[in-house]
Amino acid sequence: MSESRADAVVEHAMNRLEATIERLGEYLAYPAISCEAEHAEDVRALAARIRDDLEQLGMDNCTIHEIPGTLPIVVADWLHAGPDAPTVLVYGHLDLQPVAGEVWHTPPHEATRKGDRLFARGSADDMGGWVSHIGAIEAWMAVTGGLPCNLKLVIEGEEEIGSPNLERYMDAFPDAFTSDVMVLTDCENPSTDIPGLTVSLRGLVELELICEALSADVHSGLWGGMVPDVSIALVKLISRLADDDGRMQVGRVDVPADWRAQAWDTPLTPEIIRKGAHIIDGVETLPDRGTAPAEWMWRQPSITVVATTLPTPNIKKNALRQRASATLSVRLAPGQTAADMMTALEEVLLVDPPGGVKVSIEQEGWAGEGWLYEPKGPAFDAADRAYKKAWGAPLVRVGVGGSIPFVALFGRRYGDLPLILNGVMDPETTAHGPNESLHLGVFEKAVRANVFLLDELAALGKAAMTAD
Ligand SMILES: [Zn+2]
Repeated sequence: MSESRADAVVEHAMNRLEATIERLGEYLAYPAISCEAEHAEDVRALAARIRDDLEQLGMDNCTIHEIPGTLPIVVADWLHAGPDAPTVLVYGHLDLQPVAGEVWHTPPHEATRKGDRLFARGSADDMGGWVSHIGAIEAWMAVTGGLPCNLKLVIEGEEEIGSPNLERYMDAFPDAFTSDVMVLTDCENPSTDIPGLTVSLRGLVELELICEALSADVHSGLWGGMVPDVSIALVKLISRLADDDGRMQVGRVDVPADWRAQAWDTPLTPEIIRKGAHIIDGVETLPDRGTAPAEWMWRQPSITVVATTLPTPNIKKNALRQRASATLSVRLAPGQTAADMMTALEEVLLVDPPGGVKVSIEQEGWAGEGWLYEPKGPAFDAADRAYKKAWGAPLVRVGVGGSIPFVALFGRRYGDLPLILNGVMDPETTAHGPNESLHLGVFEKAVRANVFLLDELAALGKAAMTAD
């Protein structure tokens, strides 16, 4: 039985764990920020470094693909496990969120260890995610001279700007993606002790809510009392969208009763939320009102005011203004479309305008699809076994309140394949915020789990991957 072989590989990976963390630290030194044009060369330099390292590791066809006008992807493969072994695609991304305007306690592009955490932008999102696979691959190669499965790696350079060109890469380099099972690393674990398998995402739509009333700003003392105030009208309209707790009340969806009942078992407690969301003393999480936090955060829409043109402290003008607007970001329930949400919003916002002001709403930019997935079949049983062995705790199905465009894209293109979506983030990671960190215990368990996962998938064989 392959049990002892995988155990030997894990042992090797654990002996090499410090070296793997060091490798991760070296990658984190590149300020590979995809949304800032001045860092495009850093993204390319990191891609080149990774390509070289993958070659050294013994991977084949290590290549940087770059479609003009985009940032590159790095691909590599190892296809010597034989025709009956499954081909596993591992996806991760090498680019980073910006750090501008954030207060960091350690240099953001210098991996710094404090206690059991490694601080740096990208440490968990997503460099640690895919480097945990590198740790597993290296150990398999060292101990057995190869991998138990065929394997392909795709490391993207534009995830943090919404993967705008990933589908073009899928079209241009289809072979790089062809596989029997996909392991997508960019997600979160419910805690540092419990591994998570992500099975749903919320979508996203942004809109501009505009109130207009006058053709010029006018003196509020002369005219206030009979002239509509667009700022107050705007605030009143926004408040229509929220219930008394301040929670989005428009576009709520029905969730299947069995899911709803199980949602209470999810390890997403008020304490975890308090800590992860940095809620200050004296303030509580919103009351659940009989609905599990997991449902509120993963399966129902929510709203954020992301910008307004309301008067600011540096433009204090005692005037009634011509126009006021707000940019609203709406998280869509999985399966809900942007068009459904816009219709629901119009029904609430465009009737009975406060003070009779002129109200309009416009959808802005890009809308992200949500994603809802049913993880069933032998590949998921294999993942359950692998994670249980590595973590000593069962793999828990979780949702993500955010929108990850690449996941919806993989779901649309490759949804017939098992998509195993996980990662190395935990509730204290603060991905996309200051002082992002990776829990090194989680990273260690991720490396172990990746070793076991390849072993379990190999034992099943290629034919089992698409069976129910
Ligand atoms: Zn990410």
